[in-house]
Amino acid sequence: MWIVPESAIADLLDEASAFAAIEGCFAAMARRDAYNFPVVREALGAGRQYGFKSGLDRVNAILGVKAGGYFPGNTDRGIPNHQSTVYLFDPDSGKPVAMVGGNLLTALRTAAASAISIRYLARADAKVLGMVGAGHQSLFQLRAAVRQRQFERVVGWNLHPEMLPRLADEAAALGLPFEAVSLEDLGAQADVIITITSSFDPILMASHIRAGTHLACMGTDTKGKQEVEAALLSRARVFTDEVAQSVSIGEAQHAVAAELISPSDIIEIGRVITGEHPGRSSETEITLFDGTGVGLQDLAVAARAVSLGIERGVAQEVTF
Ligand code: NAD
Repeated sequence: MWIVPESAIADLLDEASAFAAIEGCFAAMARRDAYNFPVVREALGAGRQYGFKSGLDRVNAILGVKAGGYFPGNTDRGIPNHQSTVYLFDPDSGKPVAMVGGNLLTALRTAAASAISIRYLARADAKVLGMVGAGHQSLFQLRAAVRQRQFERVVGWNLHPEMLPRLADEAAALGLPFEAVSLEDLGAQADVIITITSSFDPILMASHIRAGTHLACMGTDTKGKQEVEAALLSRARVFTDEVAQSVSIGEAQHAVAAELISPSDIIEIGRVITGEHPGRSSETEITLFDGTGVGLQDLAVAARAVSLGIERGVAQEVTF
């Protein structure tokens, strides 16, 4: 069995390889070659959350689980609050194949998902990128997004404005001017908007969003969370990674509960990747990607890290 430690991931996987792995993963899901198992998520008390996301990709022979959670006391220990590890198994024999550090992989696979939605759904002439959220994930989201269109500037909003300079620095490093704006201005200026917050109440209202905008809503991954007004989903064409998660723990949970849209209105992004669905239907359509984060994404990037790690001699083999 192979071990790829967390410390090795940064040198093994970049935005481009994460993008390719997640694109393949979503396409395999749409072809029904791959499926996710039910998610287990438990509150451990004292703010700690732990869960398991798992699945099987029959064609790429990937079986595994990401075990991970949130441990709010970790900052005091000098380690990240989010902790996760991916375990891969041989789908034929069940034997363990690899144990892979999952923290950076989670950030890369999440950023790849929104980048894929931009590649396949945003208008080709998109110039202004709007960022709602300025936490840990937002920097990865920004880096992956700017590769998809010829963006000329970035506008941003965050509930805690003191965090915005990090986004501004990242935009500058990518050669893009950054401006902190109101939500009204963000909606009025941005062609593409990424939301990546821990919000439990709508931040962006339907009235903020103009025709032709693409939104990648990435923060809502739990029951009760919400980043955009439910009414926006009935004005938009809604895409997702997995419909079952979108309607239960994703942004669409609220619009479906309010009967503004039905689960059958939501399109798997993999169907756009495979060419089965055309994606955006006009320059004025609002497209919204509800990125909930599925286990197969974790397995796909972990499998890529293992093969690259073996190839480059950084994966450690252990007898198990
Ligand atoms: P973080 O803690 O580093 O940042 C949190 C962000 O949310 C900050 O911008 C903060 O200002 C903002 N925020 C906090 N409370 C808020 C509130 N009540 N209203 C509005 N904004 C608020 O977290 P992160 O690592 O950047 O992750 C952001 C979100 O993305 C989390 O909710 C996380 O669960 C989610 N996430 C989703 C996926 C996925 O696959 N969809 C993957 C990883 C993380």
